[in-house]
Amino acid sequence: MDSGEFRRRGKEMVDFIANYMDTISGRRVTPEVEPGYLRNLLPGRPPLKGDKFEDIMNDVEKAIMPGITHWQHPNFHAYFPAGNSFPSILGDMMSNAIGCVGFSWAASPACTELETLVLDWIGKSIGLPKQFLHEEGKGGGVIQGSASECVLVMLLAARHKAMTQLKKQLPYMEDGVLLSKLVAYSSKLAHSCVEKAGMLGFVKMRQLDVDEQYSLRGHVLERAIEEDRRLGLIPFFVCSTIGTTACCSFDNVAELGEVCSRENVWLHVDAAYAGNALICPEFRFLMSGIQNVTSINFNPNKWLLVNFDCSLLWISDNSLLTSSMTVDPLYLQHKHDDKTVDLRHWGIPLSRRFRALKLWFVLRTYGIDGLQAQIHLHVKLAKLFETFVKNDARFEILGKVVMGLVCFRLKGPNSLTAKLLHMINESGKLHMVPALLNEVYVIRFAICAQNAKEEDIEFAWKVISTEASALLMEREYIENGINIEKLESVEQKNPDIDDVFPDFDDEFIFDQQKSNLHRARLRRSLFMRMVSDPKCYNPKVLKALCIDKKRTKSFSSDEVLDFNFEK
Ligand code: PLP
Repeated sequence: MDSGEFRRRGKEMVDFIANYMDTISGRRVTPEVEPGYLRNLLPGRPPLKGDKFEDIMNDVEKAIMPGITHWQHPNFHAYFPAGNSFPSILGDMMSNAIGCVGFSWAASPACTELETLVLDWIGKSIGLPKQFLHEEGKGGGVIQGSASECVLVMLLAARHKAMTQLKKQLPYMEDGVLLSKLVAYSSKLAHSCVEKAGMLGFVKMRQLDVDEQYSLRGHVLERAIEEDRRLGLIPFFVCSTIGTTACCSFDNVAELGEVCSRENVWLHVDAAYAGNALICPEFRFLMSGIQNVTSINFNPNKWLLVNFDCSLLWISDNSLLTSSMTVDPLYLQHKHDDKTVDLRHWGIPLSRRFRALKLWFVLRTYGIDGLQAQIHLHVKLAKLFETFVKNDARFEILGKVVMGLVCFRLKGPNSLTAKLLHMINESGKLHMVPALLNEVYVIRFAICAQNAKEEDIEFAWKVISTEASALLMEREYIENGINIEKLESVEQKNPDIDDVFPDFDDEFIFDQQKSNLHRARLRRSLFMRMVSDPKCYNPKVLKALCIDKKRTKSFSSDEVLDFNFEK
């Protein structure tokens, strides 16, 4: 493809993208395909000679689009938003064209410098203290690919710091022995990536209980640390969450920070979704105690109109504070005198994309005002949805609605809400996913679309309440002794819907019931099973430390047992 054809195809592509976005609401939000569907539609080998561009584009509509879950759809209310906007797409296009690999300042000075600049811009806009800014010294921010990466890198940095201190105190102790003493903490509601980071980092990870507001509190952490020190373990890292995945609850960072700073433990804040809202002053109370935080991350690719991938991580210069100042966990001291930074030392990959460009395009196009308006819009719509739920006595809300997420359920057993969610997802009219809050099954309703409107929320509520009516009616039949299973088996033998309720006349079986019974016949697809199981979104990985089992002192050296980090 030469530049002439690129100009033509590029313009067509921009039209395609704009059309896709303009007409997305006409598509079914979730796909109806089964695993392996694509292999039936596309050849098993690549073409020997290149295909025509038109043919590729035809196959997009024929083969690719049927397998897309449309995250930008106005009826997509699952997970958290997937950030998207035209300025971000254009910024990323330019980054792809420049195609630099910014592994050092010299490899493309603008790539490194813009990244440090926009991280300072956003840091100031969310109220981070100076110790997190590049312009002030040794702290600063960096763009990573994902929140999971941020958490892993911070756990590894904290581990490095702890091990270095321990080895100085106990030079004859084997690394493996020291490592086996390290213990990290999070709440039970932390994202599964925290547990995964613990496994990858080969350290024990304790998941602590939350209070009735699903928040991890200082005294719970303090007790756990005391208990573990008595067992000879060495607490070194806490991952707190601002905006849990399950219900957008908030750990008490102020209390945790006091404990961590007293105990000389690295405190990381994972604010993947909710951190975006910190650009609005009214949410900054969530950051009280930030001066005791060592590192914090959030994802503009969730809620700040920036396309994936763009996860921001700030590290405080207090991560370097040790007795001797010799520990350099992430090589933060790799700042040159002239304040340029070598970001390759701030994460895992050597090669780095020019991701700051899309962020810069978004910040400049919308301004802080525009981004605040986006957050306000979603919060307002979540409140509207909350009102609908609260006005319907069949439902209840769990947790507080503070940002753009509402957790709700039908009163009754978990299975009832699970069935409701299954029916709704199966209808293809809406898409939501569940969560378990202290073993209570809830449906998460997240406001996701950039241009979400009140009508979308009204539509969503109509679908939810209509499906709930049908489900509760079905349950009433069961309670009144009408055997639905028998009816369904009759129905399988005889697909004529009118024969399913032989005891009722046609008028009684209104449309909604008919469509439910049709649905009952549908194959239970893998997609539906996946999106109905809370563990699919936040799967439990094996626990490195089973806290339910009886715990014993895990090592013998009194020298290590009595060890405490020097401040
Ligand atoms: N942490 C929290 C609180 C999240 O909600 C999520 C995802 O939604 C993650 C971490 C994982 O984010 P990522 O996909 O960027 O790794």
